[in-house]
Amino acid sequence: MAELYLTRPMPPKALRAAQAAFNVTERPLNTPLKKGEMRASLVLYDVVIPTLGDLFTAEVFEGMEGSRCRLLANFGVGYNHIDVEAARKVGIAVTNTPGAVTEATADIALMLMLMSARRAAEGERLVRAGKWTGWHPTQMLGLHLGGKTCGIIGMGRIGQAIARRVHYGLGMKVMYHSRSYKHLEMPARAADSLEALLAASDCVILAVPGGAETRHLIGAAELASMRPHAHLINIARGDVVDETALIAALQSGQIGGAGLDVYENEPRVPEALRQMENVTLLPHLGTAALDVREEMGLMAVENAIAHLNDQPLLNPL
Ligand code: NAP
Repeated sequence: MAELYLTRPMPPKALRAAQAAFNVTERPLNTPLKKGEMRASLVLYDVVIPTLGDLFTAEVFEGMEGSRCRLLANFGVGYNHIDVEAARKVGIAVTNTPGAVTEATADIALMLMLMSARRAAEGERLVRAGKWTGWHPTQMLGLHLGGKTCGIIGMGRIGQAIARRVHYGLGMKVMYHSRSYKHLEMPARAADSLEALLAASDCVILAVPGGAETRHLIGAAELASMRPHAHLINIARGDVVDETALIAALQSGQIGGAGLDVYENEPRVPEALRQMENVTLLPHLGTAALDVREEMGLMAVENAIAHLNDQPLLNPL
């Protein structure tokens, strides 16, 4: 039987699917693989299912031309932790799990936007601290989102799922900036430029992939283009935003608030962000629901099985 390595404990349903086709080794830790573990996994297993945090850099693939592993079936749609080109050069294919994560991640974007705009985390902290003094007409006024403009950066699967939610659910106007023009089911305006989107939006949501192309896409200059009451929501990858510049923009009141699911150096979240009331912080919850994680796991396993049977991969990169 072919050997498969799971770099983290998986939902039982996905584990059972893997065990039906492979001899499975499940690493019993929830921490990222170390470089030596990654190299060993390429030597020892036919397929590896890695995930976020497992940094398969070009260095890890060095000299792996003849290694046993021929497929990294990534658990997750984001794959900026894997140097796909370096893998390809040594004959290792990479797949991901697109689609399985779309709706759940869009939900988290919407939740973060609502929490940030309506000051939900701050309000919850107030109640929990026993400091709430009661309702009054000017208590904790936030930003009402109906009729306002939501600027979506990265109009792919998740971006479009967010657009549906904000248009049909909240009655917001949708504007977007992406690499290409999109034919969409709801009214949405393609911004002339990233700056134009930032200047016109009441909420800006990031839904681009991570990686070199989008690193610090939002830096000091971009934050300066935003409106002072506007909120920045990041469900993409932490390094899409220059975190130091974001902290400065929040501290100086250049923007109204931020809702973050991802960070530059996860799981480290800067003290300055944790101190600010107008910042909503989630621990990378985008896909954190059992059935979503099961679907992601099953998709990764299906790619592994296709590879095993010499069939075309379902989600090749
Ligand atoms: P996708 O369908 O590939 O969409 C990405 C979109 O970003 C595409 O529309 C692409 O434009 C656009 N884009 C790429 N580079 C850009 C750039 N430099 N400037 C502007 N737009 C750019 O991917 P997805 O499934 O929606 O996922 C997006 C990302 O979300 C993932 O890669 C992952 O990192 C992140 N994510 C996070 C979580 C979480 O837990 N927080 C969960 C799932 C995913 P074109 O279509 O024009 O090429």
